[in-house]
Amino acid sequence: MRFKYVAGKYSCVTQTQTQLIDGTEVAASIRSDLISSVNRITNTGTTPQLATVLMNDDPASQTYVSMKHDDCEEVGIETRDITIDPEAPAAELFDTVDELNTDPSIHGILVQMPLPDHVDEREVLRRIDPKKDVDGFHPENVGRLVAGQPRYKPCTPHGIQKLLIAADIETEGADAVVIGRSNIVGKPMANLLIQKADAGNATVTLCHSRTNDLASKTREADIVIAAAGVPEMIDGDMLSAGTVVIDVGINRVETETGSELVGDVEFESAAEKADAITPVPGGVGPMTRAMLLWNTVKATAITTDVSVELP
Ligand code: NAD
Repeated sequence: MRFKYVAGKYSCVTQTQTQLIDGTEVAASIRSDLISSVNRITNTGTTPQLATVLMNDDPASQTYVSMKHDDCEEVGIETRDITIDPEAPAAELFDTVDELNTDPSIHGILVQMPLPDHVDEREVLRRIDPKKDVDGFHPENVGRLVAGQPRYKPCTPHGIQKLLIAADIETEGADAVVIGRSNIVGKPMANLLIQKADAGNATVTLCHSRTNDLASKTREADIVIAAAGVPEMIDGDMLSAGTVVIDVGINRVETETGSELVGDVEFESAAEKADAITPVPGGVGPMTRAMLLWNTVKATAITTDVSVELP
């Protein structure tokens, strides 16, 4: 098979080529454009600032937060790093969120999940000022998205939309199958795909762990978006020729020599069938990170009434 790397503009491919949709490159281009947006805001006397709140000891979560800080630094967004003892009472987290909500120098708030068992995640999400909710998980922002008036789109499905646009994938009238119904990926992804908007106007089937005969659904699809968290569960036999495959899954699996990251899609066999496919790593992951920056810049514009163009 032959791959054609895709980022931003590119030429048509023949049927014998499979486009490798390169999220690393598209995300880099978005970050580069965001630098101009941040500069324009900074020139008005405001520097965008994201507050991250970490209340767990999980090394992976610590790494995610530190990567988010590095990304912010690259585009000129300041960060405030708040850590709370996982044993502390929930009230300490609530008080922190309340303070960040009213602090005018903070434009976006991100509470890193998961939280300790004694803290109700839903209560935390409801507590964040919806105008500073850069994850887009507050019920008000979820409702706005469903109603077709999105304020902040959750970063992963938003990033996938940007990838589909960058890769010139036609979604209008397409049959899209989304696998996974989580609040952070599957549900908002399905909602975005049905909107009357760019990277929308698709006919969506939302599949999940209780779906019967998943393969019969994926074989009918023009676009398959896999977000189940099950290593390599989608293979080429489950796809028709010409499908666009977006692999959201990030799964660490044991190998003879240690471990490796794989997606929810068995890449080799799927790429044989697909017209276009995202790799893991280097597909959706970098886009998720870039869209957090995008939402933070938007949050700065919203909370300070500065108008700014976003890429
Ligand atoms: P989740 O566990 O919250 O949801 C998984 C969903 O998949 C559930 O709705 C479940 O019904 C469905 N599912 C599970 N097994 C299934 C099966 N056999 N058939 C059909 N549906 C099935 O997970 P999530 O948070 O939505 O994340 C999904 C995957 O995406 C994980 O691998 C996660 O690491 C990854 N992820 C990646 C990014 C990124 O930036 N690339 C971002 C978020 C999540």
